[in-house]
Amino acid sequence: MNVAEHRFGRIVACVAALGLALGAGACGPDDAREPQDDPVEQASEPIVVVASVNQWGSLAEQIGGEDVQVTSIVNTTAVDAHDFEPQTADVAALQQAEVVVSNGAGYDAWATASLTGDAASVSAAETVGAMTGDNPHLWFSKDARNGMATELAEAFSKARPDKREEFESRLAAWKEQEAEVEQAMDDFSAAHPDATYAATEAVAYYLMSDLGFEDLTPQGYAQAAANEGEPAPADLQEFQELLESRGVDMLVNNTQQAGDTTNMITGTAGRAGVPVLDVSEQMPEDCADLTAWIASLVKSIDALFATDETADDATSGDATTGDGDGATTGDGTTAPSNEGQSDPAA
Ligand SMILES: [Zn+2]
Repeated sequence: MNVAEHRFGRIVACVAALGLALGAGACGPDDAREPQDDPVEQASEPIVVVASVNQWGSLAEQIGGEDVQVTSIVNTTAVDAHDFEPQTADVAALQQAEVVVSNGAGYDAWATASLTGDAASVSAAETVGAMTGDNPHLWFSKDARNGMATELAEAFSKARPDKREEFESRLAAWKEQEAEVEQAMDDFSAAHPDATYAATEAVAYYLMSDLGFEDLTPQGYAQAAANEGEPAPADLQEFQELLESRGVDMLVNNTQQAGDTTNMITGTAGRAGVPVLDVSEQMPEDCADLTAWIASLVKSIDALFATDETADDATSGDATTGDGDGATTGDGTTAPSNEGQSDPAA
């Protein structure tokens, strides 16, 4: 089975993954986190938590529940997270936080630049020992998520010792959900041990690694992208040829680092029939929480491969070469969104 054998459109988590997400929680309206109006629970004030980015802010909410009040400063997928500069109000919020939650590894140095002595700091990079220069997209790493969940429960318990039991029980519930997602990842890598991909930017590096994918992004291109530079023409050419020859099963496109170069690359993937997975840096607004986001991405990737198997069966014996424009059939009714299936360069 070769996923690159078939034409797919692009899929976007979490929208495309509705109905596919794990029982742990789908993206979409959050009906799982109802505030409890228990008067006993309001005995102590919620902990004021400020997170640099919404994916870690979401995890803080998952662990803190009604006992935290979380503000996420970068809270949209519509910005370039790598170049974010906080406003005065953002800095003020950080200075008033009891717990500051950051990513670290150079991703959000502004978040901890003005830490006061009073605030507790929880950093994903510190949790897993990542340094500036390492791939900073740590929320996509299962190790970092698990480490952060534990650190957050600990920091919250220190801030409100009387709530320790609540934090620990939410941590246990979170770990069950996370384990479910990781099981799905293990199932995927067992079913697709030779999966390969290339990426416009290494945003999903840890996720793809956890899924057992081999990264075949041309090195020169990858280095330029990591340094937010323009790739050399030869590197770009190499990338284009990799896609044209369907040398990878999937292209990961960072929608928050989009530009002319990445548009050219996704266009080439579209023409070659290499499926494109759009991944943002920040958690999309329609995702209930970090776990649901990761689950939906895993489901989306799995669906791309599973759809390919279905499509191969459905089109076997078909006399056409199957690469013409227009009404390609055989995708099956359960295929993810085929938005963007048409030739982007047409
Ligand atoms: Zn990035």
